[in-house]
Amino acid sequence: MPRHLTRRRVLLVLLAVVPGVILFGKWREASRRGGQQYAEPFRIAGNFYYVGANDVAAFLITGPRGHVLIDGGYPGTAPMIMASIAKLGFDIKDVKVLLNSEPHADHAGGLAELQRASGARLWASEASAGVIASGGDDADIILPLRFLVWIGIAGYPAARVDHRFKDGDTVRVGPVALTAHVTGGHTRGCTSWTFPVREGGRVLNVVSACSLIVLGGMRYPEQGADLERSFRVLRGLPADVWVSSHARLWGRYRKFVARDTARSPADPFIDPAGYRAYVDTAEARFRRGHVQ
Ligand SMILES: [Zn+2]
Repeated sequence: MPRHLTRRRVLLVLLAVVPGVILFGKWREASRRGGQQYAEPFRIAGNFYYVGANDVAAFLITGPRGHVLIDGGYPGTAPMIMASIAKLGFDIKDVKVLLNSEPHADHAGGLAELQRASGARLWASEASAGVIASGGDDADIILPLRFLVWIGIAGYPAARVDHRFKDGDTVRVGPVALTAHVTGGHTRGCTSWTFPVREGGRVLNVVSACSLIVLGGMRYPEQGADLERSFRVLRGLPADVWVSSHARLWGRYRKFVARDTARSPADPFIDPAGYRAYVDTAEARFRRGHVQ
């Protein structure tokens, strides 16, 4: 074959491959943080702070004997969470316990890095523990997705699970105490957390509610029964302040702006009606057979 033809072939192959490699690299980088942007951290109420990205949430509950951090975001949002903790004047090394709402990459992806930086012990529900410890390998997800986890395209850095809790267990760091409610449906081990905070001489009940969204590719036989139970359990929890793992669901920014500019003394984060609406809306979607 003439030399110039071979050269042309090499050139054509390069023209085809190089943009693909660049695009793949960009996609990998974007998927590492799921398009999330840094968001200003702020105090929600009492010793309860928002330290997550613009939508994928993370929460810090501080105490004199150490802090508790709920959720790690994507692998690429862990540095944002650490920057937010520092900006609030706290030390990541004082985080003693790491918790997780559910083990998808957008909430468990950053746990390994946060665990390394803090030295904290990671607590997970029985059903979430194996998924977190394997970096996202979940027997309930469809095979093509599992395959992407196995070959390292999906999934996230595996974190060490130090303690497996059961429904109703309480996690304590000094006076800070959070109670676990396993509210399955979005995933089997989806965990909601309840804890009290003191704000202006009053005790407020906080609920950090797990997702109630039914994902099409992530079904398991008991999913419907789990959701029915979760609606019941969540309705039974007293909630003055409520949050969830995606900030848009509970109006992080809207409430933050409303509090910043409001003339009335009412605190927009005290929102029991919004909490009831969250559960009602999720249940209505479930009854309609809505799958995302
Ligand atoms: Zn999820």
